[in-house]
Amino acid sequence: MLDFTPKEIKERKALVINPAKTCQPIGAMYAALGINGCMPHSHGSQGCCSFHRMHLTRHFRDPIVATTSSFTEGASVFGGGSNLKTSLKNIFAIYDPKIVAVHTTCLSETIGDDLTTIISEAAPIIPEGKLVISTSTPSYVGSHITGFSNMVKSTLQLLAEGEGKGANGKINIIPGFVNPGDMTEIKELLEKMDVPFTMLPDTSGVVDSPMTSKYEMYPEGGTKIEDIQDAGNSKATIALGTFASEAGSIALETKCGVPSTAIKMPVGVKATDEFLMEVSKITGKPVPWEIEKVRGQVVDIMVDTHHHFHGKKVGIFGDPDQVIAMTEFVLSLGMVPKFMLTGTPGKAFDKQIEKVLDDAGVNKEDSKYMSKGDLFLFHQWIKNEPVDLIIGNTYGKYIARAEDTPLVRFGFPVLDRSVHTYLPTVGYKGAMRLIEKISDALLERADRDAEDKDLELVM
Ligand code: SF4
Repeated sequence: MLDFTPKEIKERKALVINPAKTCQPIGAMYAALGINGCMPHSHGSQGCCSFHRMHLTRHFRDPIVATTSSFTEGASVFGGGSNLKTSLKNIFAIYDPKIVAVHTTCLSETIGDDLTTIISEAAPIIPEGKLVISTSTPSYVGSHITGFSNMVKSTLQLLAEGEGKGANGKINIIPGFVNPGDMTEIKELLEKMDVPFTMLPDTSGVVDSPMTSKYEMYPEGGTKIEDIQDAGNSKATIALGTFASEAGSIALETKCGVPSTAIKMPVGVKATDEFLMEVSKITGKPVPWEIEKVRGQVVDIMVDTHHHFHGKKVGIFGDPDQVIAMTEFVLSLGMVPKFMLTGTPGKAFDKQIEKVLDDAGVNKEDSKYMSKGDLFLFHQWIKNEPVDLIIGNTYGKYIARAEDTPLVRFGFPVLDRSVHTYLPTVGYKGAMRLIEKISDALLERADRDAEDKDLELVM
């Protein structure tokens, strides 16, 4: 299918082929789903909303509910204010959410709709005790990660109150654009450390809700509105990943004075260590043996299986925070990260990748890395210098097939496999799971390629 991708790389300025990202509102919609009792609302045409819902539904295999301002030609010419006011009236009357989180689309941004003014004008039709928040998500800049970041930032700017003196005894965690299985793992680590916290957003219990005999439009999960409002009284905010989470933590620091720290997404032993040590530093709580034990198991597995990974070349693509953390993790396994690419723009990606390579004592000239790149270029890199493994989302399967290279699915979206959203890739348990996935992919390839006389029983 991609067999004809040419090896020769030509500079392109105005053409993206097979983007390594998707559009801003998808991230904003996902972040809004992580607020308890929230209806995400897409201010634009029905097509945008349908696409965003469909993409999330296919990844999570759960019905994603969202509403739309349903633009037609009239709204496109005269602006979407009237559509949004009618929508809000209908949403509260029919679906009764606690809060509506509005995000824009390309069309409403191009028209120049001013959401703040429109929503303030709609105040008389918003029922008492209900809330409407909004963020700007023009999809012709940034990516779904930018949209996620914008929605988290606006939520905290609009709802959080407090003086940043730690009066509620909690820490805030912004987990990044990760699966509910990851959020659950982070929460379990904090609970084991006996650390009170607020996680925003928290899609566990929303997009991984169990099958019951009753349909719940608003499942029990999601960050409670009163906890978001109280976030300004926390001791500190830890942002997991600079691209998806840091803007929200800085916004809260600016508004309420809650100190913010941005660290790597806790993928792998080193990044998980850093996360837990940061929590311990802020709260004074030690890391209990229950957690240390799992860490020790992961290190034991890494020692036992290092020969599976040593010297294997890997190409990694996807969302920036995850690619950066995964690069560090594969280095710790003894692998060689040759190519790292994200579609999300931001020079901070290159700098953070360089730091990870430097810290590991690896010559950065031996690797290629790029933000705002596309999968066509990623494929060309691999064509010119084959790798042993590709790590990335489902879109990598076409490159994997063309180059006959194993693919480990990781990140968003994963549209052709199931269960992954329930299980972690972060924390020590996540590291264990990733080692299994990477090891299985490499060893299955070795078995497949082995001649009869070389097929090993023990590997
Ligand atoms: S028009 Fe813009 S917001 Fe709508 S689906 Fe396309 S890129 Fe996304």
